[in-house]
Amino acid sequence: MAEKRDYYEVLGVSKNATKDELKKAYRKLAIKYHPDKNPGDKKAEDTFKEAAEAYEMLSNDEKRQRYDQFGHAGFQGAGGGGFSGFSNMEDIFSHFGDIFEGFGGFGGFGGGGSSRGGRRAVRKGSNIRVKVTLTLQDVVNGVEKKLKITKKVACSSCDGTGAESSSGVETCSTCHGSGYVTRVTNTILGQMQQQSPCPTCGGEGTVISQKCTSCYGEGVVDGEETVTVKIPAGVGEGMQLNVAGKGNAARRGGVPGDLIVLITEESHPSLERDGNDILYELPISFPDAVLGATVEVPTIEGNVKIKIDSGTQPGKILRLRGKGIPDINGYGRGDFLVHVQVFVPKSVSKEEKSMLEEINKSENFQPKEGKTGFFDRMKNYF
Ligand SMILES: [Zn+2]
Ligand SMILES: [Zn+2]
Repeated sequence: MAEKRDYYEVLGVSKNATKDELKKAYRKLAIKYHPDKNPGDKKAEDTFKEAAEAYEMLSNDEKRQRYDQFGHAGFQGAGGGGFSGFSNMEDIFSHFGDIFEGFGGFGGFGGGGSSRGGRRAVRKGSNIRVKVTLTLQDVVNGVEKKLKITKKVACSSCDGTGAESSSGVETCSTCHGSGYVTRVTNTILGQMQQQSPCPTCGGEGTVISQKCTSCYGEGVVDGEETVTVKIPAGVGEGMQLNVAGKGNAARRGGVPGDLIVLITEESHPSLERDGNDILYELPISFPDAVLGATVEVPTIEGNVKIKIDSGTQPGKILRLRGKGIPDINGYGRGDFLVHVQVFVPKSVSKEEKSMLEEINKSENFQPKEGKTGFFDRMKNYF
């Protein structure tokens, strides 16, 4: 293997070049040795790749520091974490796409490659967004929703081709079916080849001489479809489910778009969601708090009896493990948290008043100083 050239030398900059200088230097080289400008020139391609590698390394602070210290040796061997390599030109374009911005003279790079190599454009239908409102019950159990979607569907008269009959589709005479036209333009940087979608057929490679009368050659018509969407347990507000291929049909036999289902949650009258936990506020009477009791709480699966210990303090949180919401990624299930509140009546009868006054004389009913553990519980809670 040939001796690797110094990265700074490759870019033609000094060792203390700023990031901006690096970028400018690389950009200059990238334009000069761009394969579109040097078709079939292997040496230009190698120089182009060499410059991309040098820029990749020096534009990263960590790698640059290591290179400055150890040179190429700093990146040899296993775990070097050095240059990962660009397997092809497309990699370079997608990696440094932004550096070419503003140089419109080069057709078709940085665009994910779909326009390179003269491949025909594939039409894609647009996506459709729908909102689905779920109850807490739906969220806990998962639910199947049948959604009636108004959308563009393939024309049944022409099977989506847009042509009255199969003989009505002809190869485009402008691009001879490739879908692309190549233009050579003279710019200040020299002569450049530019590929762009064929203006006659819009990149499809075919034209329709006899249009379908049902869809006027579009291949799609207004219609509707009922789509069944399986919504898994554990979804939450703002999540999106993508149902591939259930969006609008594409014009003239392309790929349909997607149906994007946006989840919203309906609030529950007595339960509150907190992540995968469900919160419930349970009011108990003052005597129950003192004496203890068995009460029912309404979980999603139905009422569950729980025991309130004698001497239960207001604010106590009882945890019913695994009675919450299943985790969307399958990591178990949340809990059902019962927040105990002691109900204080706002008005009492004469007899009740005298009973309470009597009770209040007892030493047992006098509040004791000191922490009850409330603050710790609050800390754990949030
Ligand atoms: Zn039609
Ligand atoms: Zn064409």
